Amino acid sequence: MNYIYSKVSSEKKFFGKTDPFQLIEKYGTPLYTYNENILRLRCRDLKGLISYSNFTVNYSLKANSNLELIKIVRSEGLRADAMSPGEIYLNRMAGYKPEEILYISNNVSEDEFSYAINEGVKISVDSVSQLTMFGKLNPGGKVSFRLNPGVGAGHHEKVTTAGQKTKFGIEMSSIPEVKKIIEKYNLRLIGINQHIGSLFMDSEAYLKSTGNILSIARQFDDLEFVDLGGGFGIPYNKQSDQPRLDLKDLGGKLTKVINSWVKEYGKDIEFKIEPGRYIVAESSILLGKVNAIKTNYNIKYIGTDLGFNVLIRPVMYDSHHDIEIYRGNDIPSLKEENVNIVGNICETGDIIAKDRKLPEILENDILGVLDSGAYGYSMSSNYNSRLRPAEVLIQADGNPRLIRRRDTFDDLVKNFML
Ligand SMILES: *Cc1c(COP(=O)(O)O)cnc(C)c1O
Repeated sequence: MNYIYSKVSSEKKFFGKTDPFQLIEKYGTPLYTYNENILRLRCRDLKGLISYSNFTVNYSLKANSNLELIKIVRSEGLRADAMSPGEIYLNRMAGYKPEEILYISNNVSEDEFSYAINEGVKISVDSVSQLTMFGKLNPGGKVSFRLNPGVGAGHHEKVTTAGQKTKFGIEMSSIPEVKKIIEKYNLRLIGINQHIGSLFMDSEAYLKSTGNILSIARQFDDLEFVDLGGGFGIPYNKQSDQPRLDLKDLGGKLTKVINSWVKEYGKDIEFKIEPGRYIVAESSILLGKVNAIKTNYNIKYIGTDLGFNVLIRPVMYDSHHDIEIYRGNDIPSLKEENVNIVGNICETGDIIAKDRKLPEILENDILGVLDSGAYGYSMSSNYNSRLRPAEVLIQADGNPRLIRRRDTFDDLVKNFML
């Protein structure tokens, strides 16, 4: 096999003892591949973020909910967040105890609250109205709430999850009402959490919002935890040497703020963070095949099986993913050119990389979409009645293992009343 353009995966020895051609021959295409060593490394990065003994990292499952990956994350000592009853169920299946799971609810029904209450997980509510519903269902229970500190951050307005223009959290001015409802239903407020948005690459907004949540937390004297949220960014432009988020700097500053706050509060309560993307994004390369190439009115289209049913981030958020090229023979690429890399879905917007300058791509090349582990498979769909891809883990010993089979036609019809 000829690695035409593969600096990132080669340096990381991403494919272990195998290579993209062997992988798609065995498991088919498109194919999500994951590297166990990288996943473990990213877990350890964040476990070491803060020097404070009562610090826990909750993996936010919605970024990627493959059971085998959750088990690896768990084996690294991380705990778990859930955004839905389904995620509570998956976390329990991965071996988490109820008290290790924090259910961060948003506009849920009474049934969903009851499920979470019966499971015994920790629960955070997202509005005064939901706090009231929770109080009626579980008077005397323990609860936490999600604060909207009024500032947000994120790579796109759709993923900025705090600030003055988002549905999330309880605004500062509603805190007196929160206190009233807590008293009315005899609830015990054990935690406050926030999540200001996804994919920040410098620490300023995170530190600012930490200051905000801590000033609110001070008003409650019986807390067990404060949860600072996720959103830790990863460099999606590795081919152009984008620097990483400076965890040492952020961690050092957070450590200072937390230690001095705790001293004042008088109790070594737990501090949590809740990363999703940072843990899993870089552990995956999505492989797809080049089936057709054409030029339409001066634009060159590389036609692949990587439709937005497989990876929707570029279409949904205008996200950038670096692309690698692997070739099954030793024909070289003699020039670079600008191309649109597109999928096989019947929509003009089905573009995975637009006007991208790359070495010449040939039919039957395999493309590798870097950093596709977060919000990749978990946002995939059967749109156009396409089959969702398989997932393969490159294990620590370098050997591949199938961790989710590809959909079959049976999966497309399994819910019909046949
Ligand atoms: C999605 C989400 C996260 C994880 O966000 P990342 O940007 O993937 O780190 C954390 N907390 C909450 C409440 C979320 O909804």
